[in-house]
Amino acid sequence: MNNQLRQLPQIQTLLTLPAIQDAVVQYGHDDVVAVLRDILAQTRAALLADDQAQLPEFAGPGFAAWVTGAIEATRAPSLVPTINATGIIIHTNLGRARLAPQALEAMHSAGAQPSNLELDLATGKRGSRHSHVERLICELTGAEAAVVVNNCAAAVLLSLMATAQGRSVVASRGELIEIGGAFRLPDVIAQSGAQLVEVGATNKTRTNDYAKAIDDTTAVLLKSHTSNFKIVGFTAAPDRRELAALARDSNVILMEDLGSGVLIDLAPYGLPDEPVVADILNSGVDLVMFSGDKLLGGPQAGIIAGRRDIVAQLKAHPLMRAVRIDKLSLAALEATLRLYRAPHDPVVELPVLAMLAEPLEQVEARAQRLAQMLEQIGITQVHVCDSVGYAGAGSLPDQDLQSFAVAITIPEHTAEALSTALRTSTPPVIGRISREQVMLDMRTVQPDELAQIVDAFRHITAP
Ligand SMILES: *Cc1c(COP(=O)(O)O)cnc(C)c1O
Repeated sequence: MNNQLRQLPQIQTLLTLPAIQDAVVQYGHDDVVAVLRDILAQTRAALLADDQAQLPEFAGPGFAAWVTGAIEATRAPSLVPTINATGIIIHTNLGRARLAPQALEAMHSAGAQPSNLELDLATGKRGSRHSHVERLICELTGAEAAVVVNNCAAAVLLSLMATAQGRSVVASRGELIEIGGAFRLPDVIAQSGAQLVEVGATNKTRTNDYAKAIDDTTAVLLKSHTSNFKIVGFTAAPDRRELAALARDSNVILMEDLGSGVLIDLAPYGLPDEPVVADILNSGVDLVMFSGDKLLGGPQAGIIAGRRDIVAQLKAHPLMRAVRIDKLSLAALEATLRLYRAPHDPVVELPVLAMLAEPLEQVEARAQRLAQMLEQIGITQVHVCDSVGYAGAGSLPDQDLQSFAVAITIPEHTAEALSTALRTSTPPVIGRISREQVMLDMRTVQPDELAQIVDAFRHITAP
């Protein structure tokens, strides 16, 4: 046994040291004691693990620096900016869509100063927070009316609760999705107080399946975007126009949970032919819901657009207050939506769309540049290679995005260790591991982030 164990001091003794007393004055007694307790436990564990381990010099400057460093670490912000080198543009774990500068500016103003959030400036009377974006959404989607809530999950819950509580909702077995673990459509339907009626089979559902399921309890036919999977092979799903005609004839509502929701045609950029929201509404869907922070490229929000009478019902529903959008997100959403109108070009000005549409040569040039910068600081096992990225967050699920990555290995570091070192850098650099190398995909990295990545490597490899 390591005989230094017996010489481990008491916390009370450490508290009498001048440097520790200074720390108590600066940080308070409780924080210092908590950190000392931690440090003593670590020291005890180190002594137990190793006969040769030495006690730290408690009275020395190194120990005081250890204590203050540990306290500072507990006080550092938890939510920090990161560098997304995963190639996944809308990465849920990294906060989804990057916002346009105009959206950031709008959030800043809305936070820093009072605004007319719920004040009608013309009449001086109480206004509606929805008024700030409703016209824009209608203009961009052709909807009669629109309302915005906290996120798309809330949009689905509110829409079902307001229209189908105590009645039934007909949905295809092929579309009963689970997203992000916590959002399962059957559970959301149950929470809304509606009864789910499943129709069709996993791979095929026809209009007639819906027709047979409709009875006098039916309130809604619900379609949903199979965001994070695809059923391939012999599949069938009814045409929206047919379903819309059925819903109209049966006097029920046709709703569609779009998840991502695209406002403009992405086909000219080589991206899949996702139906745009305007076309979906135009084919007769009564109400659609989609996210603000997926392909739309804005803040977290759930947008509901469609028939005026249904939207009016949602606005008046008691749940509305619980799921309403906050002023910062609303400000960012309005600014984002304005970028879809001429003379703006959303594919240039919205980071999400700009990253999706960026020509491959440009991504490759950025990869070459990072490789060169890394070689200049003495990292030699670096090469540029093909990579595949994704839109992410269930958007364009079956679309690979050709990309380029920089693959890096460092002597005496496993790929796992290097990846951890990058992830715990300031700012954290998030890549992925492939074939024992760290891969940094350049589609999701901005030019001005290259220098920060190089800095992270400089720290990791410093002697
Ligand atoms: C992402 C998604 C949701 C949830 O959207 P949030 O804005 O994250 O709440 C709901 N439905 C579908 C189909 C989705 O893809």
